[in-house]
Amino acid sequence: MATTAADATAAAPKDQPANGSEQVTRHSEVGHKSLLQSDALYQYILETSVYPREHECMKELREITANHPWNLMTTSADEGQFLNMLLKLIGAKKTMEIGVYTGYSLLATALAIPDDGTVSSLTSPLPDPPLPIHQETETGMKQILAMDINRENYELGLPCIEKAGVAHKIDFREGPALPVLDALLEDEANHGTFDFVFVDADKDNYLNYHERLMKLVKLGGLLGYDNTLWNGSVVLPADAPMRKYIRYYRDFVLDLNKALAADQRVEICQLPVGDGITLCRRAK
Ligand code: SAM
Ligand code: CA
Repeated sequence: MATTAADATAAAPKDQPANGSEQVTRHSEVGHKSLLQSDALYQYILETSVYPREHECMKELREITANHPWNLMTTSADEGQFLNMLLKLIGAKKTMEIGVYTGYSLLATALAIPDDGTVSSLTSPLPDPPLPIHQETETGMKQILAMDINRENYELGLPCIEKAGVAHKIDFREGPALPVLDALLEDEANHGTFDFVFVDADKDNYLNYHERLMKLVKLGGLLGYDNTLWNGSVVLPADAPMRKYIRYYRDFVLDLNKALAADQRVEICQLPVGDGITLCRRAK
């Protein structure tokens, strides 16, 4: 099923060593997701810099997710730490996430952004006028618009988000993201208002999201496209053996990477964090 396979980034094990002298690169732990060719090095990063600083509710959510059958979809702990830091660096106040699953990256986001959306950024490169917040509900202001076709998985992680005291920041919408983006675009007041958008869902729609998000993100704001190295398959020959879902989405990821590289409206930076994340800063 596409949604379960859309991001099972660690599902396809890396090559087994041909002989005992080569290093085993099979990652077994959930959320243990890296393109590094050394398990030991990745484990070192996790154990030295990531796990010791991981918020206790994120740890709990990670552990709950580990027991879920689709756990390979989760954002890895090091990528969660990266997103949290990134959002603080850009002083993000209003964000969007497409593809929530059990909410690990969502919690990393919710912990990073200020409670009331008014805390000023230390490093924001552009003048930062007060932003209209357009996701208001009876429960108050929401700074994160989060979308997923599956509410059940979100609800699995929700108790951890609540325990962390940040659930009030989240406006979760169940259903496909494209119609929500189209509805947002109908109101001019939403244009150019998002500081950050994390796209981590159906890869065959990334370019459709991109055109819409370019209107919704503010000038100088960031779009983050996840899994742009697609389990390393982007450099495999077309006839190489690949899992079915890797092969299916591979062409979409290749097209996305080419399109982003050619898009003069954005500055880009593709990082080998997790399964590859491409950051696009809206420059025009
Ligand atoms: N960011 C998540 C995390 O940190 O665990 C992982 C998201 S997972 C890789 C991809 C998610 O995208 C799945 O939960 C799936 O239900 C969702 N999805 C697939 N197609 C979608 C669509 N058209 N609109 C919204 N969500 C979608
Ligand atoms: Ca992902």
